[in-house]
Amino acid sequence: MGGFLGRDILSIADFSRADIEHILKVADDMVVDPHKASERSLAGRILATVFFEPSTRTRLSFESAMKRLGGDVVSFGGLEGSSVAKGETLSDTVRMVEAYADAIVLRHPQEGAARLAAEFSSKPVINGGDGAGQHPTQTLLDLYTIWDELDTIDGRTVAFVGDLKYGRTVHSLALALCNFDVDLYCVAPPTLQLPGYILSQIKERGRDVKTANTLEELVKDVDVLYVTRIQKERFPDAAEYAKVAGSYRIDLDMLREAKKHMIIMHPLPRLGEIAPEVDRTPHAKYFQQAQNGVRVRMALLSLIFGVIP
Ligand code: ASP
Repeated sequence: MGGFLGRDILSIADFSRADIEHILKVADDMVVDPHKASERSLAGRILATVFFEPSTRTRLSFESAMKRLGGDVVSFGGLEGSSVAKGETLSDTVRMVEAYADAIVLRHPQEGAARLAAEFSSKPVINGGDGAGQHPTQTLLDLYTIWDELDTIDGRTVAFVGDLKYGRTVHSLALALCNFDVDLYCVAPPTLQLPGYILSQIKERGRDVKTANTLEELVKDVDVLYVTRIQKERFPDAAEYAKVAGSYRIDLDMLREAKKHMIIMHPLPRLGEIAPEVDRTPHAKYFQQAQNGVRVRMALLSLIFGVIP
């Protein structure tokens, strides 16, 4: 297992199974309830959240995690209020932010941005999503949710549904799941299948992904249904987006043959992919999944700052 103190969190591919299991166990021990939490182990530390793309859950849950541990946060959330609007480069911005904080969470539309930032920062950089690349901390909370809800990750059948081409949460989770004994399925419109480079990395890890044409033919075998939004902002051409928009929707009818324990996950935000009536079924775990982000990010921060070995 790699040491976590001062470590950058850039890609889930940098994490072994032992690393992942350690994070999940530390996350499980985190006390999120404010009435019980007396832990202020990160008092005096400052986290910078630097988001060049919209975010609700990642940013707020990192900020909440830091504050629950007694730490502080500085952030900028739009380009308008910062010198980026004046044309400052990412490397210069990062050089400045690292002077004001002890770790940086960065979200950026360009793939590889977090890795670039890490080269210019002596403080740990956490990738909060880099374009259509990776979203490693989302993956850790996704894995935590599967483990917490189903007790084991090994032996499960996971189906990814939706925009597998541009969906960074799918790219990260598919690679992470290669550390476990799982069956992976993809259900997506032909133009939104997993990119070749992700398929190759899955193969290099000795795993395989099967493709299904419709969810109906698969649903009875699935333990985890991972649904994603079509990533409109990543399409180079609006007409291409229009062709696939609204092309799939999970509703009650589709779930009739699902296993009793099958869980539906979604990194959120959802548009029309999951009908609201599904929220009332025991399958719906997407809101719990988002809540798990706080304990998982508390665990990561505790490990990176070295207050937990
Ligand atoms: N919130 C997730 C992300 O930042 C999923 C999404 O935007 O569709 O990748």
